[in-house]
Amino acid sequence: MKDILHFIPHTRFVVDSFVKSPDSVCNISAFFLTHWHYDHYRGLGPTFSYGPIYCSPTTARLLETITCVDPQWLVPKQLNEPFIVDQVKVTFLDANHCPGSVMILFQTGHGNYLHTGDMRFAADWKYSKWKVLNEICLDTVYLDTTYCHKKFSFPSRETTIRHILDKIEQNRHTQPSVHRHTLYVIATYGIGKERILDALVQNGYRMYCGPDKYRIIQCLEYWDSQVMNEYFSTDPSESPIWVVGWNRIAESVPGRLLPNFEVLEEWLHLANNCRATKQRRLDHGTTNCSLPVLQQVVALVPTGWTWRQKNNNNNNNQGEYFHSKANMYVYGIPYSEHSNYEELHRFIAWLKPQQVIPTVMSKGQPKHPFSHLLAETQVKKAFLQKWLSQDPHTRG
Ligand SMILES: [Zn+2]
Repeated sequence: MKDILHFIPHTRFVVDSFVKSPDSVCNISAFFLTHWHYDHYRGLGPTFSYGPIYCSPTTARLLETITCVDPQWLVPKQLNEPFIVDQVKVTFLDANHCPGSVMILFQTGHGNYLHTGDMRFAADWKYSKWKVLNEICLDTVYLDTTYCHKKFSFPSRETTIRHILDKIEQNRHTQPSVHRHTLYVIATYGIGKERILDALVQNGYRMYCGPDKYRIIQCLEYWDSQVMNEYFSTDPSESPIWVVGWNRIAESVPGRLLPNFEVLEEWLHLANNCRATKQRRLDHGTTNCSLPVLQQVVALVPTGWTWRQKNNNNNNNQGEYFHSKANMYVYGIPYSEHSNYEELHRFIAWLKPQQVIPTVMSKGQPKHPFSHLLAETQVKKAFLQKWLSQDPHTRG
């Protein structure tokens, strides 16, 4: 059953599946990777040697530089430029998820299949970046159903990015002394959430991130080296805005956020130690600069998982989740790189495939999502044609 999610019919291709025994890979002629998130590239590493891996140029750079995959297996392909593998026409389309993420269209001659990987639907891309999908009938869509439940009606990324910026900007303008004494920490994955960091860059904020994260960001080529030098630093004393790893500030589970106040306390301490060391250096020099002691932490966790519609003590009308303890404030902001339920609905209503296969199954999620939107008439027509072409004596 699980392989239905990975094997493309009428081909010897697999998508986002690398955890295989050497025996089981001998039937595979090509591997496809939609994006560089661990749950999709798991199994890849320096020892991989089972065949070509087709992916975007960004994903190929990450695989070679960070995951240490032997570059001889990597076949980077550009968006919207069809290529042929085993007589199958393959096209990469922007998945609107993380840098380098693609949806993959396979036109096999026996059927058209779209694997979305992880994606966020964008209505205005229907006639631009995704226009090829208007021109074909799809047999199957392998759909990112991470948030395929009516309860997930979180807002657009633009809205939540504005909200995150407001958290920092409001302090800066209305409570400048509080702002000067605040450590802001923002949780991100290995990649993903770059749009948030970009909004901070656009608003002139310099950020600190650890050396591993810095290397990954460099690899993305999302910002040029001038922006990298100006807005990102690996020295924690350089900025009170820290970009930190996922699940350090808090663990996010559906509808809830479990904050880790001990870690926040540690970071506040560490930030002040680093600033004190830097201050001593500055005092020995000629600069007349003083670094204020940080007195509070504002932690931002951008994830769709914490989205809740109901207003209650832990949840305001922005759909954010809030916890505090002493001088530490943790916000779960409903920012998501995946489609919400309504967007998934609109995506399938537009494509009208004959079949949808969910690639993410979670509790309470429908097994056959959006079945009322499928190309029912096409299915019926195909069935009737097949039935009519049979010998009348053998018709069932
Ligand atoms: Zn992903």
